[in-house]
Amino acid sequence: MTSAPLAAAAARLDADHAASDLRELFLLPDDVVYLDGNSLGALPRHVPDVVARAVLEDWGGELVRAWNSREWWRAPERVGERLAPVLGAGTGQVLVGDSTTVQLHQTVSAALRLRPDRRVVVTDPGAFPTDLYVVSGLVEARGLELVLASPAEVPAVLAERAAEVAVVVLQHVDHRTGELWDLPGITEAAHTAGALALWDLSHSAGALPVDLDAHEVDLAVGCGYKYLNGGPGAPAYVYVARRHQAAYTPDLRGWHGHAEPFAMSPTWRPAEGVRRARLGSPPLLSMLALEAALDVQDALPVARVRERSLSLTRFLRACVDELAPGLVPLTPEADEQRGSQVAWSHPAAWGVVHALAARGVIGDFREPDVVRLGVAAPYLTHADMLTAATRLGELLDAGEHLAGRPRPLVT
Ligand SMILES: *Cc1c(COP(=O)(O)O)cnc(C)c1O
Repeated sequence: MTSAPLAAAAARLDADHAASDLRELFLLPDDVVYLDGNSLGALPRHVPDVVARAVLEDWGGELVRAWNSREWWRAPERVGERLAPVLGAGTGQVLVGDSTTVQLHQTVSAALRLRPDRRVVVTDPGAFPTDLYVVSGLVEARGLELVLASPAEVPAVLAERAAEVAVVVLQHVDHRTGELWDLPGITEAAHTAGALALWDLSHSAGALPVDLDAHEVDLAVGCGYKYLNGGPGAPAYVYVARRHQAAYTPDLRGWHGHAEPFAMSPTWRPAEGVRRARLGSPPLLSMLALEAALDVQDALPVARVRERSLSLTRFLRACVDELAPGLVPLTPEADEQRGSQVAWSHPAAWGVVHALAARGVIGDFREPDVVRLGVAAPYLTHADMLTAATRLGELLDAGEHLAGRPRPLVT
């Protein structure tokens, strides 16, 4: 039972936003509304051919020669340059490499060496678990102090412990609630205290403007397989502001980041610029898939993606309010405080997510009671938002969420 006024609103909004509908660029099943692009982005239609060519012609035909002839060696910098405009970064500051976990370890350790006389690291207790594990591991190994504070509280912590904080490590958008934090304000507060600001952009880059250079962010990392659609396990990226590059010295170093990798020297002499953030041989096939997927970013500037995303998430929320009461919103209502997802709490959240998937709407569940619907704007419509809310209302009315289904390993 779809509401007629909402259906009319969806049609009107989709007509208004027709120019930013990139659905045709993606391969998606017809019978699915895909609201989990913030966990694994959809497959751009042209990527399989690019990957097949890389496997058959480059790997199969060129073999080891492809490091030169197909420029495999330069892929981390090349793909970084492709990504830089999406992050609001000028040239020579972005590199694509390993997983987010690895890149974060690298950048946090480098940040600590940039502030050797400071003993405090500040991070968000609500951060993505891998971020918390990486930060606490480095803090433990160096005997430093970890201060846990929500991003809203971080400016006060910085003011209070100004002389002690080395680095603030925060997620730009909360992975659970979808709250968008004040990157410019917190970065400025960190600098006023003499500290560095390191941002995890996994849930923002590709979905909204980040403007790293304009806000003078020091360091950043982020995931390649969410809003950037790089595919399962796609490599992550690192941003090192040019002013920090000469002193950027991570704990984790590799031969690809050496000034002369093929000198095979026993001592690490870092390459110039962001190239020193390279580690060992990167996951090349995944990197080439990510490179091809970035064509989609060229088709729609990130500011336009943001407009579309805000309209979609606003409408999704309104539809759920009307058609599926009983879900309690966790995501801020104000546009400027919302990333590109909407989350609600519900006592039977896992049952809701499972029953919703059975009705063709794929979202995800997060502990303890969160229903999370990600909105990757380029391939979703307002009609999709209404379908999702309608299915939610129907399954709740029918009690389908109470069936008590076992949880798989990945939710
Ligand atoms: C998705 C995500 C990660 C993923 O880390 P991997 O090492 O790439 O698995 C890390 N941090 C945040 C904030 C994320 O959203």
